[in-house]
This record gives sequence, C-alpha cells and structure tokens, in this order.
Amino acid sequence: MSALKLPDVKLQPGTLEFLEKHPKNLFINNEWLAAQSGETFETRNPASGDVLAEVALAGEADVDAAVAAARTAFRGPWSQLAAADRAARLFKLADLIDAHADALAELETLDNGKPLRVARRGDLPYVTKHLRYQAGWADKIEGSTVPVTYPDQFVYTRREPLGVVAGIIPWNFPLLMAIWKLGPALTAGNTLILKPAEQTPLTALYLADLVKEAGFPPGVVNVLPGPGLPTGAALAKHMGIDKLAFTGSTEVGRKIMEAAANSNLKRVSLELGGKSPNVIFADADVNAAIRGAQWAVFSTAGQECVAGTRLFVERAAYEQVVEGLKAQVEKMVVNHGFAEKVHVGPVITEQQMSRIVGYIEEGKKAGAEVVTGGGRVEELGGGYFVQPTVFAYQDDSLSIVTDEIFGPVAAVTAFDDWDELIARANNTIYGLAAGVWTRDIGKAHRYAHAVQAGTVWINGYGMIDPAAPFGGYKQSGFGREMGKEAIELYTQVKTVWVGMQ
Ligand code: NAP
Ligand code: MG
Repeated sequence: MSALKLPDVKLQPGTLEFLEKHPKNLFINNEWLAAQSGETFETRNPASGDVLAEVALAGEADVDAAVAAARTAFRGPWSQLAAADRAARLFKLADLIDAHADALAELETLDNGKPLRVARRGDLPYVTKHLRYQAGWADKIEGSTVPVTYPDQFVYTRREPLGVVAGIIPWNFPLLMAIWKLGPALTAGNTLILKPAEQTPLTALYLADLVKEAGFPPGVVNVLPGPGLPTGAALAKHMGIDKLAFTGSTEVGRKIMEAAANSNLKRVSLELGGKSPNVIFADADVNAAIRGAQWAVFSTAGQECVAGTRLFVERAAYEQVVEGLKAQVEKMVVNHGFAEKVHVGPVITEQQMSRIVGYIEEGKKAGAEVVTGGGRVEELGGGYFVQPTVFAYQDDSLSIVTDEIFGPVAAVTAFDDWDELIARANNTIYGLAAGVWTRDIGKAHRYAHAVQAGTVWINGYGMIDPAAPFGGYKQSGFGREMGKEAIELYTQVKTVWVGMQ
C-alpha cells in the first residue's frame, strides 16, 4: 500500500492498521477469502480521488459459497439459539462498534468523504442505537392465538424467520445501512449476506471482524464486496436466497424485483430514492424554517434519500426565505471531511460530480434562476466538490425539479393556495418524505395527511429513530424499516391448527 496517500491528519492506529494490513477479502464462514476469480476493485477517497484500497470482488461462485454458508448457519447453530442468546451477540456487537467508533468514523470519512464530525457524532452513535433497539426485539417476537369458528380446533400463529437474507446497500451511509439490514435480519433469526456499495466497502469489512469477535457462529454474517454487476445481480437472482433487502435507486430496485420475479420469488423490500417536498407557510417561524430547509439538503451534500430538495414557500414569505436561504447557504464551508471547518464534504465519485453539474447546467439553460452556487468547487484540487446550489423556479417540469439529483442542489418556488400546493407537492413519482413549517397546528396535520410520503416532519426535517417506522410511498419503495415493522419485514407467519377432539 505504499502508493496510499492519506490526508494530512493523524489517523487512529486502528484506522492505519486496517488500511495497511487488513486483507480486504470476502468474509464467508467467518474467514477472509480471496475471490475465486482472483479479481479485485479499487475504492477511492472522494476528497482527493486517490485509491484507498484494493478489495476482493465477489463473483457468482463466491455468491454460491456465501449462500451455502448462510444456509448451513441458518439450519444449524443460529436457529437453535435461544432468542435471548441471539440478542446477547447483537448487544456485544454494538459494544464492539462503540469501542471501535473512532476508527470506523475515520474510515467512513476516507471512503465516503463525509465530514468526520458527522460520521463520528451522527452516523456512529446512530448505528449502535439502531442495533440495540432491534436486538431488544429478539425475545419479544410473538405469535397469537386465533378464535376460529370451529370449537374443537385450537389455532395459533408463529412468527418465523425467512432464512437467508441478502442486503444490498448504497454508499451514502455505509455502516448505518449495513446495520439497518443486519439488525432486524439477525434479530428475527435469519442469516445475512451483505453487499456494500462498491464505492464504500471499508466499514463493512471492518464490521465483519467485529462480528467474528462478538461470537456469531460462522456463516451467520457474510460480506461480499463488489459492484452491482456481477455481485448484486448474482444475489438478486440466486435461488438460495429467501429475501432481498435493498436500499438504493428506483432504477436498480426495479431490476431487483424483476430478478426476484424471474428466479425464486424471493421476498423483496425496497428503500428507494426521493424528491421530497418541504413546505414553508408564511405563518411559520421563518428563521427556523430557513435553517431547517438548509440542513434538509446540504448537510450530506444532498446525498440523502430524504433530502428536502423541492422547497415550496407561501408567496407572502417567499422573498424573505430566498434571501435568508442564500445568506445561510453562502456561509457553508465546502471542504474535505477532516478539515477543521467543514459543513459540506465532497460528492462520492467523479461520475456523480459530472452528473450533478450536468443537472445544474440543464437548470440554467431551462431558465431557472441561480440563487447561489451553480458549479464545481475547482480550488479544492483533485476531489469531487460541488457548490451548494439553490435554484428559484416556476416550471415543475424542469429536470432539476423532477429528478433525484443526489447532490447539493435545492429548488425553491412560491405557491399561492392550498389546492395548488398539494397538487404540486404530490406531483412526483417519489414519496419518501415531506416537511412542513407552520404555527397553525390544524393546517400542519391537514398537510401531513394530504402529502403522499412515508415520513412527514412538522416543524423539523430529517429526524429518524430506531423506533419510528421508515419507508416509501409510490416509487420510493415498500416495506418499513425500523420500529417493530422492521421485524415484520424479516419474518413470516405460520398458522398452526390443533385438533382437540
Ligand atoms: P444504486 O445505484 O441503486 O446502488 C445501490 C446498490 O445496488 C449498490 O450496492 C449497487 O452496487 C447495487 N446495484 C447496482 N446495480 C445492481 C443490479 N443490477 N443488481 C443488484 N444490485 C445492483 O444507488 P446508489 O447510487 O448507490 O445510491 C444512491 C441512490 O440510493 C439514490 O437514488 C438514493 O435515493 C437511494 N437511497 C435510498 C435510501 C432510502 O432509504 N430509501 C437510502 C440511501 C440511498 P454498486 O454501487 O456497488 O455498483
Ligand atoms: Mg470510496
């Protein structure tokens, strides 16, 4: 790894040891194995474009091996364990993640680009909070007794695990997404094969070592790094996988459903993209709403599925909001994630940067007004940095308004009345999240009921919690992660009839 260039910061010993010494292979049956093909791929640091590591690339034969390992573990040790013992291992894993949080956060910043403060104080605590919440359900997964019409029959239900689960996840919250899948899947008694995104495989590999240390039997958790093709596609069509839990784009979600339909009808749950409306009424605490609108998009450089990228402002407050937002956004510091002062990190890849800049150019050409930003940040060297950009617009058919850009770009428009607002807010294929800012409590709830979205925030934006169900309406997907709904997503109901004659 002599070619490895690291930022000019003092990294944790655990981070350096992982980068320099860890094999970065496939994790199958609690062992590190090279890909059967011998293939590898590179993961890069988006703040500099430098290669961080070479990682084994799982092919179809490796997927077969991981499925066999996960199946054996499911039939054997894992399903024989008492629920409380499953939970004990998950709690132990959470403790280990806490103990390694500094190194994990640094790896997240290196691989994904996000500010270290965000990784360390945002992602990491949320990871273990989620894991502990889910683990707490392990010994509370109950069936019911059913009062049927036959007096001589006793009927009860059991909630049983599905079997082998595959999790395919994106790059924006690499470790958190891994735990969103691992937590409920293992709590419910399934075994797991995890495919991290090719752009951000490192924390999933680090996690695998902790899984082993926490005492999970071989095969319960397997990690297969690799790209969508061939690794993700091989999982989606595999006959030996019982459920596929996916987070990513609507386009790939569609392919996964197709692959499931054309193979073994494996269960599929999809957490997909969004183009979420955030609404400010003139009677809101406008300054709080402006700050909320700012963080709803720019805190993750817009690389967040719930980003409030369509901002609707009641005409009486429109000018105040646009001016306030411009002032706030212009104070945001774009920099690499280890910098002392940074609000907005790089975007994930060069390709993603070009795509975002392409959308910005389309917006300009189509006549939308650039309120602030509007292009790359050139002076930050080889990294993939885009200026936080706000457009003002009227035409809902512009691509900056219809498409999920997944970058630091917001579009703000004025509205005049309720019917117009609801029609325009819902005029999207997506339905992941929505926000509304008003001091009128009745109006806030009316909006929350009228908007087509899986999560609505009133006088706030972006909060998530392990206890609060999360998922999409419309083409933002289906299935609810978190809360007890997550356990339902990873189990199936068996009905047992007992003749008492
Ligand atoms: P993506 O292209 O859909 O990728 C997501 C995952 O699917 C990655 O692991 C990817 O592999 C894999 N994949 C790609 N093609 C595949 C195929 N043909 N078969 C099976 N797997 C395949 O999305 P992304 O660019 O990583 O992430 C951004 C998108 O994710 C955005 O649209 C965003 O809204 C969405 N997202 C949604 C949520 C949510 O909770 N709803 C959360 C985060 C992100 P590789 O990347 O390794 O090639
Ligand atoms: Mg990377």
